[in-house]
Amino acid sequence: MSKVNVKIDAITARDEDYARWYTDVCRKAELMDYSSVKGFIIYRPYGYAIWEQIQAYLDRRFKETGHENVYMPLVIPESLFQKEKDHVEGFAPETLTATLGGDEKINDPLIIRPTSEVLFCEHFSKIVKSHRDLPILYNQWCSVVRWEKTTRPFLRGAEFLWQEGHTLHSSEIEARHETLQMLQIYNEMGRDLLAIPFVSGRKTEAEKFAGALETYGIEALMHDGKALQSGTTHYFGTGFAEAFDIAYQDEDNKLTHPHQTSWGVSTRLIGALIMVHGDDNGLVLPPEVAPIQVVIVPIQQTKAGVLAKAREVVSRLEAIGIRSKLDESDRSPGWKFSEWEMKGVPLRLEIGPRDLKNGVVLSAKRNDGVKAQIEDENIEVEVAALLKQIQSEMYEKAANFVEEHTTTIYKYEDLDYALNEKTGYAKMMWCEDQVCIDKIKDEHAATARVMPFDEQPFADTCPVCEQKASKVVLVAKAY
Ligand SMILES: [Zn+2]
Repeated sequence: MSKVNVKIDAITARDEDYARWYTDVCRKAELMDYSSVKGFIIYRPYGYAIWEQIQAYLDRRFKETGHENVYMPLVIPESLFQKEKDHVEGFAPETLTATLGGDEKINDPLIIRPTSEVLFCEHFSKIVKSHRDLPILYNQWCSVVRWEKTTRPFLRGAEFLWQEGHTLHSSEIEARHETLQMLQIYNEMGRDLLAIPFVSGRKTEAEKFAGALETYGIEALMHDGKALQSGTTHYFGTGFAEAFDIAYQDEDNKLTHPHQTSWGVSTRLIGALIMVHGDDNGLVLPPEVAPIQVVIVPIQQTKAGVLAKAREVVSRLEAIGIRSKLDESDRSPGWKFSEWEMKGVPLRLEIGPRDLKNGVVLSAKRNDGVKAQIEDENIEVEVAALLKQIQSEMYEKAANFVEEHTTTIYKYEDLDYALNEKTGYAKMMWCEDQVCIDKIKDEHAATARVMPFDEQPFADTCPVCEQKASKVVLVAKAY
């Protein structure tokens, strides 16, 4: 290598200051930038491209399951917002409200949507008349605003991008099935796209969405042992329908309220990707969600034939649907290596004069640094295989991390060890009395994440109060 191996600015090590490492990655991988208003971030092209990959996956899954996209207004009249009591109580503390139109006072102030339930409900009350109008399966891609006091890029923003599904069904069974079906799609997104093994289950009464009868969640475990709620689905019963007069003539001509659901994930998933997979060199993206799956770095690119070969490799990879980029800028190869490592590109290929002569390229995997030599004629097959391998290795590693950081608790004294030394989830039996969860919150700053599916009771009593318990709950510190 002729040029000096200049490294781009290093980031804070994770063990030194995890919070700073996180914001370093957000900015130096060029995912986002801050704007002049706190909590409102700029999604830079590379960060937005990750969101587009998530959108593409989910939009396909939503449409395959019969959902249609719609778009609702940005603002909600305050009078409309107040129709469902629990919902208002849940969201009122964090709404942003417009009170001036030009220089005139708006008599019914306009709330910038923190979520769109009430807008959907008002619309549903107008379009639903007969059982023939059901089910209604809608989804909306938009941004919402919540006036948060503490904000962090992607994790908690005053404005964030998301999708919100809103559906109406004639039967409770169908609506409950929808609620769990969408949770399953989120789980599959974790497994197949993000390489994140979500833990899913029902939320406790206290952690339910404002106005829901039941809320389900997917939780991801970050490298620092804290959980991140990464998506939720809700079964509303007929509560919203009653509050908003949504009713239809059933097959016996009886006026009936439909059963309702809503579900959503947001750009918070980008925060999860960073904190589940990232390392001290920056972002590490699973191939399926990576905007650039392979970067080709030419070595001594001014030498005859090097760039031509690199361009040929890019077009061969693109021809088989692999998202590839050739970095032919005049930076040194070492600088480029660091740059693309920072951005988490799953696979790097190097091509220099000697490789050209030998009819090979060199590959380097971002997730573990393992290098290999690939014969020219095998490039397509081997690169595709390496990407598959990286995806599954990253999922396995994350799944092992969850397993290693889940501690079964039989005695309250063991909670401290589970949450502060091992870190991660404490799995315990729970009496279903919120008092016990509140005690954990006060004494350990941890909360009930989910009551996981398929978990058999492993003891008879709640470790907090020692009363009879039949539910398994995962407790963790959380973002
Ligand atoms: Zn208890």
